[in-house]
Amino acid sequence: MINSNYFQDNPDLQLTYNELIDWQEIVNAYEQGFVDAAKYKDTGAEEYSMAPTTVEEAKDYYTSVLDSLGELMGTMVSQKSQEMDHEGLKYKDGKVTFPKAQEECYSALRDAGLMPMAISRKYRGLGLPVVIQALACDIAARADAAFCLAYGNINIVEIMERFADEEMCQKWLPAIADGKYSAAMALTEPNYGSDLPSVQTKAVQGDDGVWRLTGTKRFITHACGYIDAPSVILTLARTGSPTSGARGLSFFLVQGKDVHVANIEKKMGLHCSPTCEVVFEDAPGELIGKTGYGLVKYSMGMMNAARLTIAAQSLGIANGAYFEAKKYASERIQFGKPIEQIPAVRKMLDKMEREIVASRALVVEAARSIDLYHWRKEHLQKEEGKSEKEINKDETLRFWEKMADLLTPLSKYYASEGCIDVADDAIQIHGGAGYTEEYDVARIYRDSRITTIYEGTTQLQTVAAIGGVVAGMSPTGVLRNYIDGEMGRIQPSEDLQRLQGSLEEVVQLYRSLKGPKKDELAFEVVETAARLVCGILLERSLSKLDGEAKEKRKEMIEAYHLDSLAMVEGNRIRLERAASREPAAV
Ligand SMILES: Cc1cc2nc3c(=O)[nH]c(=O)nc-3n(C[C@H](O)[C@H](O)[C@H](O)COP(=O)(O)OP(=O)(O)OC[C@H]3O[C@@H](n4cnc5c(N)ncnc54)[C@H](O)[C@@H]3O)c2cc1C
Repeated sequence: MINSNYFQDNPDLQLTYNELIDWQEIVNAYEQGFVDAAKYKDTGAEEYSMAPTTVEEAKDYYTSVLDSLGELMGTMVSQKSQEMDHEGLKYKDGKVTFPKAQEECYSALRDAGLMPMAISRKYRGLGLPVVIQALACDIAARADAAFCLAYGNINIVEIMERFADEEMCQKWLPAIADGKYSAAMALTEPNYGSDLPSVQTKAVQGDDGVWRLTGTKRFITHACGYIDAPSVILTLARTGSPTSGARGLSFFLVQGKDVHVANIEKKMGLHCSPTCEVVFEDAPGELIGKTGYGLVKYSMGMMNAARLTIAAQSLGIANGAYFEAKKYASERIQFGKPIEQIPAVRKMLDKMEREIVASRALVVEAARSIDLYHWRKEHLQKEEGKSEKEINKDETLRFWEKMADLLTPLSKYYASEGCIDVADDAIQIHGGAGYTEEYDVARIYRDSRITTIYEGTTQLQTVAAIGGVVAGMSPTGVLRNYIDGEMGRIQPSEDLQRLQGSLEEVVQLYRSLKGPKKDELAFEVVETAARLVCGILLERSLSKLDGEAKEKRKEMIEAYHLDSLAMVEGNRIRLERAASREPAAV
């Protein structure tokens, strides 16, 4: 892998960070009147000592986090990723052993204090907006997708901050933020993956008041703990009857020491991320929040952040593939010249680059939409004691919440599908060498394949997004408002206007469908919306550029629109054909 600072050496990441993100907007959304800085002034409490007092201070702080992470990931983790992947994990009698190199990387990450990104300052976390969390994941996954999960996963405990009581948060969160524990999320069971409302692990409260869990969970990342950090496993279990559906499910914290790790999966990729089968036999669990809300409120409540993490991971994997392929293409000589000069290779490299730039724009916009509702909502609830009903009167907050609910599945599907394509092209550019384990692209390709599966498959992201696209394009819909607003702020190209027209047509045709073809064609509608939103975001970025950089980006955007128009036209034809074959209404 390239040995450099993965924050500093990435031109599009630098452009996004320095020019395209509105820091005033993000910092104000996260800091909510700089309340943490005020707490530090009033109390001198150590955990708030890093709280910024201005937008500039906040940005400097974020820069230092991403810069340190970029250095560690680019000069240490990336240099050991192939070794870690080849050595892999060892399982014996319920215990997992990690490669030595992984232990060193983990210690370095933990000692640098870079792990608790989503945990707030109150509980000794870094206190970072979602936009920064996403960029951090982008940087880390470029170095090593499996290792990236080490710290990605501890941040799932954010769910406790939102729904557990203060006593439970104080008991667990600072210890997790300090790296004394690792974290896992146990939803999937052997018989229920996408179909989470049906999971059957049972939780029963004894006369002593203690909840005890019995059942088996499958595919649980890091349930065995991570190196020397034992796990806490946030577990979805049934407190209602076996047929009580989603509303019979609750959420528990179970300690890794109280379960049996029966096996770890032998996987095609993510070799250094333990994926565990976990057996619960009367394992004691601490209830998070209230019973009955485990899936419908708590898991769903953290869905956006979790999906976005995988979208950002996908982006990072694609980045790794692209930079390695670009380097190889500049060094590999065929027919007397570097292969990057051969048009067919250049074409692949250009496409990889524009797909990554589009993915980053979409991932950052999805992160922005979460930042623009989530912190305000938390602040109104926790600091100002406002009720749900009062909060819902805030129309701006509601707008961004709906946008986040749409942009997050869009970005998850888009970035993950895209990363597999980019990794595939990276292999192609390496030729036969790409098919060997000598180069990193083989590992990157294997690792990329999981991204469209976990944290909800692409098909499930489509299910999550289709309602938002169709209802959002109604005359007063949120997506229409967003598109009209953004198109009004730029001078949209003809191609972009054509794409906008295509989305109208595609949604119209989709609405007219009644038969079984409707569900089948939901993806075509979601894809059309994603390509249009990416196109808008790319054109929006032009206002921040000038000279040669602007001309180069214009060229790239034109090529991106051309790809989109070709795809969207295919989608329109499929929908038109299906609509023409619908039985006539009587
Ligand atoms: C490496 C790895 C790590 C993982 N980590 C975790 C973890 O930490 N915690 C955890 O709880 N789980 C974890 N998982 C599980 C993962 O989230 C599930 O594998 C995933 O949600 C899909 O579930 P499934 O495998 O049962 O597939 P299924 O649900 O059986 O799906 C099979 C196919 O059917 C399609 N399908 C199913 N239902 C629908 C529908 N309604 N509409 C359209 N298509 C549908 C799917 O898209 C897919 O193509 C992990 C899995 C892997 C491989």
